Amino acid sequence: MESRKIPTFSLSRSGDRIPAIGFGSGTKQKRLKHSDLRYGMKHAHPALVQTFKEAIDAGFRHLDTAECYLTRIDVGTAVEQSGIDRSEFWITDKWDQGWLMDGKVFKSRSPSGPYESIKKCLELMHLSHLNLFLIHGPYFTKETCNVTVEEAWKQMEQIYEEGLADNIGVSNFDVPLLKRVFKVCKYKPQVDQIEYHLYLQQKEIVDFCKKNDILVEAFSPLTPMFSDRVGKNRPLNDIIARLCKKYNVEPNLLLLRWVYQSGVLPLTTSSNPQRMKYTFKIFDFELEPEDFNELQRIGQTFHYRGFFENYFERK
Ligand code: NDP
Repeated sequence: MESRKIPTFSLSRSGDRIPAIGFGSGTKQKRLKHSDLRYGMKHAHPALVQTFKEAIDAGFRHLDTAECYLTRIDVGTAVEQSGIDRSEFWITDKWDQGWLMDGKVFKSRSPSGPYESIKKCLELMHLSHLNLFLIHGPYFTKETCNVTVEEAWKQMEQIYEEGLADNIGVSNFDVPLLKRVFKVCKYKPQVDQIEYHLYLQQKEIVDFCKKNDILVEAFSPLTPMFSDRVGKNRPLNDIIARLCKKYNVEPNLLLLRWVYQSGVLPLTTSSNPQRMKYTFKIFDFELEPEDFNELQRIGQTFHYRGFFENYFERK
């Protein structure tokens, strides 16, 4: 089992230190058919538990799950079976508030709000508390759940005060939605987890969060090279190839390092144990400022969003 010192980011209110790279349980678990994920509602799936145990063996201590991924039970089982003390892990989970996608409505799995969701989570994962609990997305309509964003945030504060989660935050919130929370909150969100990569640099949200001491976490950081939907021959391909030679790294490391060096915490995932281990090399090199800036500049010449386009790019 790998044992290494992982750099951390510090959360402003609690001072808690969150491992600066996280392993996600959300997308593309390539060993599984989608139908297998239904296991996660009641029983752990052996192949998924195996993936998370491999991630833990590779050195990951920051694990990211969510109610709608149906992987809570698998992550909880892997943590339990690892034999590693709970205090060494950082575990994040998210309330499924319901979704509006492709013209369809998906009702929340816990329509009365995040309190109902975290109670189910802790029971499924056999945990007394989470390190971080998030509202997963920006959809608050009568069809998705029975609470407004303001009411949901009040429940989040209750969750924090009762010690069910040490930190509370949001995911996929834009600036207007964050401002609605600010108007009613006793405690500000500590984290906003958003899609963030070189083709989606989200300057407005990132600047706002930095100004307000909210840590930004990046999901899908590898999109520019490893999303089938981005397409081939995009503007970064040449510079990524050149810089990979210069720093003697693979493209995934270069993309993760750019995210980390921009002050944002990357969440990644893999079903490949070699790749899981390799990920930790992002802390072994540093992009020179001119290379960092050139990646940023060329990335800005192309736009790609993989998630929640109907919310963020509404007119
Ligand atoms: P990444 O951008 O890290 O993509 C991971 C994928 O890239 C894996 O399928 C992996 O495949 C593939 N990959 C990596 N390197 C290579 C390579 N060299 N060649 C081919 N494929 C490669 O992350 P995700 O989009 O999965 O997001 C990470 C986590 O973020 C999720 O698991 C989830 O926890 C969270 N998330 C949160 C969302 C939210 O709304 N809050 C939305 C989406 C994700 P392989 O398995 O073969 O290594």
